[in-house]
Amino acid sequence: MDRRGFLKLTSGVAAAGTAVYVERKMAFLQAAPGITQPLQYYPNRGWERIYRDQYKYDSSFTFVCAPNCTHNCRLRAFVRNGVVIRTEQNYDGQAVGDLDGKFSTNAWNPRGCNKGATLTRRVYGPYRLKGPMIRAGWKKWADDGFPGLTPELRTKYKFDSRGTDTFVKMNWDDTFKYAARGLQAVAKRYSGEEGKKVLLSEGYQPEMVDAVEGAGTRTFKLRGGMGLLGVMGKYGMYRNSNMMALLDVHVRGVKPEDSKGGRNWSNYTWHGDQAPASRL
Ligand code: SF4
Repeated sequence: MDRRGFLKLTSGVAAAGTAVYVERKMAFLQAAPGITQPLQYYPNRGWERIYRDQYKYDSSFTFVCAPNCTHNCRLRAFVRNGVVIRTEQNYDGQAVGDLDGKFSTNAWNPRGCNKGATLTRRVYGPYRLKGPMIRAGWKKWADDGFPGLTPELRTKYKFDSRGTDTFVKMNWDDTFKYAARGLQAVAKRYSGEEGKKVLLSEGYQPEMVDAVEGAGTRTFKLRGGMGLLGVMGKYGMYRNSNMMALLDVHVRGVKPEDSKGGRNWSNYTWHGDQAPASRL
């Protein structure tokens, strides 16, 4: 047999084999009898109910997403049986305005990202913080009377290995007491001439120590949360910082007009990144 004849024969066998295969194995692709226009006839739509059921909800509400992110997108949550089952972009950026009547534009839509779309996992996640807790080492330091932190004591109370420590659950009343005692102890330690010596011995630059002006409360750096993560998180912390002037009166015995509060730091002072209009 010459080459041409061989090719004819083998291609004929291959074509016959394919025809048999298609006939037997791919019969499901052949037109159903009596169906001339498949787009007008759809035999089984029951599965669509499962799909719709997955997205069924009893109610919905809008909220501001703020998982430690600057953007604060307004999202919509869908609730079923009392549980938020999913969140979606709300496409209403153009409807958001400020008190002066200035409104955003459609160009801001859609607002939201995959992190916001999975926010429900955080809300119902096992690691959600549901009450106050204090780091065990810090609590021990407080219970021991806030001793000055030598290198050994920093290690003992895990100030140099916080990530390896555990947390102690506490009620709100005790938490506030511990926080107040901690602020008082730090303000006392760094106030006056003695406080100045401690700061210098800890390696702070003389210019920084001078800026404290003898008030231990000025060593506090308090920061509001990311832009309006919560009114308490942002403005509450700034007010708390200013309120340290009351503590200064108590600790140094100065007149109210001579008292000094803490330092207000914005979140951008801390990070130095993320332009306000950026999208993560
Ligand atoms: S960008 Fe994402 S994570 Fe940040 S607020 Fe918007 S939806 Fe939430």
